[in-house]
Amino acid sequence: MKRTLYLKFLLAYLIFGMFSFIIMTTFVPNMTREHLVREKAKNLYTEATLIAGTYASGLYASETDLETVKTQLDALSAYLQSTIRIINPSGRLVLDTNTPLNVEDVVIDGFDPTVTYGSYYIVDDFFGTFKTKMLTVLAPINYNYKIRGYVLIHCDMRDIEQSCNSLLNISYITLVILLLLSLIILIFFTEIVYIPLRRITHATEQYAAGNMHYEFQVESDDEIGYLAACLNYMASQIAGAEDDQKKFVANISHDFRSPLTSIRGYLEAMLDGTIPPELHEKYLGIVLNETERLTKLTNSLLTLNNLNTKGMLLDISDFDINQVIRSTAASFEGTCRKKTIAIELILTGEEMYVHADMGRIQQVLYNLIDNAIKFSHHDSVIKIETSLKKNKLFVSVKDTGIGIPKDDLKLIWNRFYKSDLSRGKDKRGTGLGLSIVKEILNAHGENINVISTEGEGSEFIFSIALAAENDDED
Ligand code: ADP
Repeated sequence: MKRTLYLKFLLAYLIFGMFSFIIMTTFVPNMTREHLVREKAKNLYTEATLIAGTYASGLYASETDLETVKTQLDALSAYLQSTIRIINPSGRLVLDTNTPLNVEDVVIDGFDPTVTYGSYYIVDDFFGTFKTKMLTVLAPINYNYKIRGYVLIHCDMRDIEQSCNSLLNISYITLVILLLLSLIILIFFTEIVYIPLRRITHATEQYAAGNMHYEFQVESDDEIGYLAACLNYMASQIAGAEDDQKKFVANISHDFRSPLTSIRGYLEAMLDGTIPPELHEKYLGIVLNETERLTKLTNSLLTLNNLNTKGMLLDISDFDINQVIRSTAASFEGTCRKKTIAIELILTGEEMYVHADMGRIQQVLYNLIDNAIKFSHHDSVIKIETSLKKNKLFVSVKDTGIGIPKDDLKLIWNRFYKSDLSRGKDKRGTGLGLSIVKEILNAHGENINVISTEGEGSEFIFSIALAAENDDED
């Protein structure tokens, strides 16, 4: 079953070979023989008419004698490798290049000049005058508007058969060479197509069985090599995605387990009296914080899931970004007051309309401001600035906090990534905030960049499309 393609090609090759053989042994010999006979007859007929018009009619016009004609026709018959005869309309032999002159009076019994039936040649024993089959052409001798006799040229069919066989031998050798060449093509096909195809099929079977780390090699620069490379790449991508999935689940489990363990620990300690009742309020506050973290984690996961599954399903509209920035910043008033952090807004224009999903952009701002506050020192300032560049609005959220180590800059966008530096500062972080930000902006076809120096602060800048309304105003 697995070798079907190969068997099909082998079968096709055998059928091709068989048909070639049948054609070569039936049609070709017949056609060749017929062609040779026709060509020979045509040539002989030309000769016969020539003889009839010259020597033979000269004979009847008594311009030349029989002996001279005989010598000349003898030479010609040797050259043509055939027998030349001149006969009277009654069938009486006047001259025969096979026999000397005046030996005996020979009459061809039942001679009929219409024997060729409209054609200019006939293949038979010519009224029993030959023991073997002969090709005979017949040309009338006209003198004084009367048929005085006929010139006959007979050629032995065995000679024609011999030339036919020599020609056929060439055809047979050509056929054998062709069959050998096509066998080489079959072997090449096996090497170039079949074996790589088998490898690819085997690899797909492995992938279907879940072995995504299976690797295979097809070294060719053609479409098959490209297909194999694509398949290899696809498998490595799926394997990578699977590994990411595993890491993702491991991270989620870890992030859920730690708050649950601490909640459980505090509650047990309160129940068995390890934590005295007067301290219950303090520890219940910690437990509440942990539950808040769990809620935040669950919400973030749900958001990420929605972004992933719904892809581009954004609720795009034109809205005033300045308004959104102001209200989002205002929602952090309480947290800012605790850390005595000020948020400074440097916004372009009183109103600035952008074209995006308002809810999602609000979330981007929320996550960025939340991080800026989390990683800022007490008594510092966070700047939120907007600027216009090349028909786009750039929003920057800048803090003077702990900054991000250079090596971490690429990793902060990964899900669950938290830099070591931030762990001490921010125990409630999920490591999902920035991946959500990136997903949202990607879905909008926009970009986000970060400029940060460890110990000095960070600046996150993202772009957003302007609404057509602003352009009109310009
Ligand atoms: P988290 O919930 O931990 O803040 P994020 O995805 O928002 O998750 O951020 C990932 C990591 O990026 C953070 O743990 C922190 O190390 C770093 N980070 C993000 N924003 C800032 C910032 N403004 N200043 C310093 N580090 C930051």
